[in-house]
Amino acid sequence: MTQAEQRIRIPQAVIVKDLAELLGVTPIDVIKELMKNGVMATINQVVDFDTAAVVATDLGFSPEEEGSASSADEAGTSEDGETVAGSTSMRVEDEDDDPNAVSRPPVVTVLGHVDHGKTTLLDSIRRARVAAGEAGGITQHIGAYQATAADGRTVTFIDTPGHAAFTEMRARGAQVTDVAIIVAAADDGVMPQTKEAIDHVRAAGVPMVVALNKIDANNANPDRVKQQLMEIGMVPEEYGGEQIVIPVSALKGEGIDALLENVLAVADLQDLKANPQRSAIGVVLEASTDRHRGVTATVLVQTGTLHVGDVIMAGLVWGKIKAMSDENGKRLKEAGPSTPVAVLGLSEVPPAGERFTTMADEKAARAETETRRRGIEAAGMTSTAGVTLDSLFGEIHRGTVRDFNIVLKTDVQGSIEPLVRALEALGVESINVKVIHASAGTINESDVNLAVASKGIVIGFNTDPEPGARRHAEVSKVEIREYRVIYDIIDDVERAVNGLLEPIFREDEDARIEVRQVFRVARRNAIAGSYVREGVVRRNSLARVFRKGEQIAAGRLDSLKRFAEDSREVATGMECGVQIDGFVDFEEGDEIVTYHMEQVR
Ligand code: GDP
Repeated sequence: MTQAEQRIRIPQAVIVKDLAELLGVTPIDVIKELMKNGVMATINQVVDFDTAAVVATDLGFSPEEEGSASSADEAGTSEDGETVAGSTSMRVEDEDDDPNAVSRPPVVTVLGHVDHGKTTLLDSIRRARVAAGEAGGITQHIGAYQATAADGRTVTFIDTPGHAAFTEMRARGAQVTDVAIIVAAADDGVMPQTKEAIDHVRAAGVPMVVALNKIDANNANPDRVKQQLMEIGMVPEEYGGEQIVIPVSALKGEGIDALLENVLAVADLQDLKANPQRSAIGVVLEASTDRHRGVTATVLVQTGTLHVGDVIMAGLVWGKIKAMSDENGKRLKEAGPSTPVAVLGLSEVPPAGERFTTMADEKAARAETETRRRGIEAAGMTSTAGVTLDSLFGEIHRGTVRDFNIVLKTDVQGSIEPLVRALEALGVESINVKVIHASAGTINESDVNLAVASKGIVIGFNTDPEPGARRHAEVSKVEIREYRVIYDIIDDVERAVNGLLEPIFREDEDARIEVRQVFRVARRNAIAGSYVREGVVRRNSLARVFRKGEQIAAGRLDSLKRFAEDSREVATGMECGVQIDGFVDFEEGDEIVTYHMEQVR
């Protein structure tokens, strides 16, 4: 390629918005690239260099880490600038339409209503399709395992079923699931949590396969379940739709092969690929600590290969991998894309759902920890940044969001349908009002997580948040709006959506001046002899007069004089005389703040 890639220096931690600016693209471009790489980020979220570098590379840049020269220096490496990203071992330059990318196994999560057989299904797949461990190897539940389909291909299963875990991960910015299995019991049908799980998966845009479980049960009624699926827009293939529905009996191990085969078929449509030759990036699935072994973390490698001896970093936690093992307790030296492994060697327990990257060495990790800590402090935010009605509008306007996503909770089932219909009818031109999940009940943490992950807000109608949910919403800055009157909901959302189309102005402060002497020039006129303490005063700007901190007047600054001469502007440290349209009662010590209106939308 002669169109040389443009080199770009990226800080070790950067906010999505700033990254967009750096790359000269819109934030939506950055967010889209991040999504392609499995990272769900909001506009205000901090991403690390490795992640930013992937985006930059995808957009045709050759990224370098800011400050990498100095870390290379310390490490005794030459400073010729030819070595990309001195302080990480990530080889991002070959990510662009990566010629080294090869197919990787799909990662599957199992979701569904309680007692419909999720755990039994995961156990049954494990029993039927996981190669037995070596003699003496002890099966350990590490949060995920790999099964082999009848055709010899691999499928990775996340061992924590349910939508709470699924969405919590997404809320943390990690999307690990490629295909979701929705378990619905043939003797019970589509239940509230089945529906909830489906909403969560839909919001994530992940394809689904329905496992119609318990077909062995006496009162199994598969047709009724299919009917119910149709009612929520999942039309089974046999009824002319596209939804794959596989009858299984998790208990008896029936239908497992067909299920895996279909999961792989759905995965094939996505053409899942990763480059095993690069250094590893992935997600922490779970972690714990015990006195003897220290911290054990199960990580899912999403791209690249993880090796014993690699230094990995997850958030602020890092460590050199001392040992790795699979779920059979078998020691591994390396783990490629879509492989879950238990690793020993991290300094502390990282939170589940945290992304990990590979660092060049311990020194780089230590330096990076500091940078991240400072970055987080400076940005004054945690790694997740949610949405409020206001910020959402800003993002819609900037083009980063086109869907106004709502998680709706009501006291009774009966309120849902009319509310959803009324809300969704409020969409205008390019903005969709989308109720991504609606159910009756209290507002819980998983509702909040869904809102975080989907950049939406939670609306409660005659229902309250659980205390945990309220706290969680505060921390992740998601807005929960509670209402008692349907009309108010519609009114607020409508006003908000329409508000988007009207310009919004913001006051931009120009100067602060202090009144030092008052000249009465006529009965109805006064000039305030003033001193400019900050900024530049401009004639015809707007002004507010404050006395002892309280605003006493506002108007236009219609005369500005310097030594009796009319002046267009007067800068800090100078004296001037001002008059404000319609106000004459100046007193010594008043403060005048001048400003102009800036259109922000
Ligand atoms: P989970 O809450 O979705 O994880 O459900 P479990 O896997 O714990 O299963 C709930 C109950 O359903 C247990 O008593 C299982 O034995 C039973 N169960 C699971 N799968 C089947 C099945 O295929 N057939 C029958 N008859 N029972 C099942």
